[in-house]
Amino acid sequence: MKLALVGNQNSGKTSLFNILTGSNQEVGNWPGVTVHLTEKNIKKSDFKVVDLPGIYSLFFPNTNDEKVSSNFIFNEKFDLIINVIDANSLERNLYLTTQLMDVDMDMILVLNMYDLVPKNKIKFDVEILEKELGITVIPISTKTHEGIEKLKNVIFQKKFLKRTNKTIFPNCIEEFINYVNSQKIYEKNCRFHAIKCLEEKNSTNLNENIKQKKQDIENKYSMDGEQVIAYLRYEYIKNVKEKFIFHKARKLI
Ligand code: GDP
Ligand code: MG
Repeated sequence: MKLALVGNQNSGKTSLFNILTGSNQEVGNWPGVTVHLTEKNIKKSDFKVVDLPGIYSLFFPNTNDEKVSSNFIFNEKFDLIINVIDANSLERNLYLTTQLMDVDMDMILVLNMYDLVPKNKIKFDVEILEKELGITVIPISTKTHEGIEKLKNVIFQKKFLKRTNKTIFPNCIEEFINYVNSQKIYEKNCRFHAIKCLEEKNSTNLNENIKQKKQDIENKYSMDGEQVIAYLRYEYIKNVKEKFIFHKARKLI
């Protein structure tokens, strides 16, 4: 079984890789530290883990780092995404998570840097987050090692939620995705590619019906396709966040 550590830069992927594999790869608080992928076995196991460079957008990888990661996700053979996110910067980090949810692959969500979550002010209800996303969520800290054993158990015993077809978009977008899929243009990751049709600026390669449906959505929202999808992902994240984070301070008022 092969796992890939996927996440934004500085979310702690390499720190987690080092703990799991007993390695000493360079960690750092600046972009581009992990530029190549590194693969190693988790200590005392047959499970392989791959440390990938940071990525912000699966749909439009801009930098070489991002291309290395997206190329791995779409073209290499592996079994499980470990999406490592900074628990203190959820809105930004969960954006990639919502994109990964559109890829045909099981996933575990790791809320890293849990040691830095201000416990006196914020309470996370991890169960609610799991339920909302349909993904196993594990809070960890690579500094204090909180949650690492639990993560290893979940991986080794494959005790994570299987991928569901959880949708985060309103019906009009789901109808578009279903329509594109019914054309059987793509063999793999059909959902991802259908959304990409909507996001891409250049529509010349799309058939007339798809173009028209895309236009209808753009008219409905008065935005271009890329903006519509970004807007809907952030709206979704905002809603989820309100449900699973409790601000203790606010509660007292
Ligand atoms: P990557 O870019 O995702 O590979 O992130 P790194 O593993 O290189 O970590 C980025 C920075 O965050 C480094 O300075 C780490 O020491 C720090 N870091 C990683 N995990 C944690 C954590 O759980 N808690 C704290 N406090 N810092 C962390
Ligand atoms: Mg790294």
